Amino acid sequence: MGQSNFRIMITGGAGFIGCALVNYLLKHTGHQLLVLDKLTYAANLAAVERFNTEPRVNMVQGDICDASLLQQLFARFKPDAVMHLAAESHVDNSINAPADFIQTNIIGTYTLLEAARSYWQTLTAIEQQVFRFHHVSTDEVFGDLDETDNLFTETTPYAPSSPYSASKASSDHLVRAWHRTYGLPVLISNCSNNYGPGQHSEKLIPKTISSALAGKPIPVYGDGQQIRDWLYVDDHAAALYLVLTKGDVGESYNIGGLNELSNLTLVQQIYDLLDELAPAGFCQLSKGESYRQFIQFVADRPGHDRRYAIDCTKIQTNLRWQPLESLKSGLLKTVQAYCLSR
Ligand code: NAD
Repeated sequence: MGQSNFRIMITGGAGFIGCALVNYLLKHTGHQLLVLDKLTYAANLAAVERFNTEPRVNMVQGDICDASLLQQLFARFKPDAVMHLAAESHVDNSINAPADFIQTNIIGTYTLLEAARSYWQTLTAIEQQVFRFHHVSTDEVFGDLDETDNLFTETTPYAPSSPYSASKASSDHLVRAWHRTYGLPVLISNCSNNYGPGQHSEKLIPKTISSALAGKPIPVYGDGQQIRDWLYVDDHAAALYLVLTKGDVGESYNIGGLNELSNLTLVQQIYDLLDELAPAGFCQLSKGESYRQFIQFVADRPGHDRRYAIDCTKIQTNLRWQPLESLKSGLLKTVQAYCLSR
């Protein structure tokens, strides 16, 4: 794959994972990037300002549901690949107001697939072989597991629980159908929970850190025993590029952090790190008190999945991917970044 003349359109490139991906591609490749992002509340505007000064990034504010904009962008930028990350991504928001999730995650993906297909059909046979449509999805499409169930593999049947995961499951099905029906060369990846510096404050880890530093309690749903697998966002970015460049067309790849733990244990580990890094530094804690006192159990979220745990043997074996960060090292980097930014 040529470095400087390879062109990737990245939707949702101003979001949490999108920014990590753009940073990864700027650092490790010479590719030309077009970032298409609606810049919703979830976008990282500081990162967008930085992208605007990067000669290799073409930043466009726009909606993946806008078919005529997509047609113009495909015609003008002539991507060799699309990496599709744009989505409404917060489960709580999907429960309170599902409409935007249906619109962006399902209609938006459909609109993007159609624009990609029309463009792909205009390419030469060789260009068609090179072209990839990589859809970035979540392990939440598989539903949840009991403590003793086997891990999610790429062949686990879909059983989404929330409007968010149902909308992502729908988009995965559309992407597969565009491959089977029209031959569009697609790849799908399903990843576990991401974390790292720069994540929107609505998500569990940043919310836990910033609430504690502000001396506020953190609500923990139910008994806090919901189990999640956590992956450092830069490890996800590296995996996405590997899937794009080395993955087999039509295949899906599970990406996981090999870090399963309960939400309560996670919050406790973050508080223990804060006790070390910011002992009473930023809030009203008295000497010797722990941030753990900020844990506040609240009523469980409706339809809350009990356990997600992903088997990522396929990407490890076939594409030789390994996460570089352990949960310990990744959490330390994340908590340090929040402490430093205050
Ligand atoms: P995010 O919410 O931080 O970012 C989403 C980005 O998409 C934002 O910049 C937003 O402005 C943009 N966007 C939203 N609607 C759009 C539209 N209609 N048109 C164009 N842009 C639009 O999300 P994230 O955490 O970075 O997740 C990125 C992708 O990865 C999503 O598809 C998500 O489902 C998936 N994913 C996320 C996680 C996770 O833990 N965060 C895990 C697995 C998979």
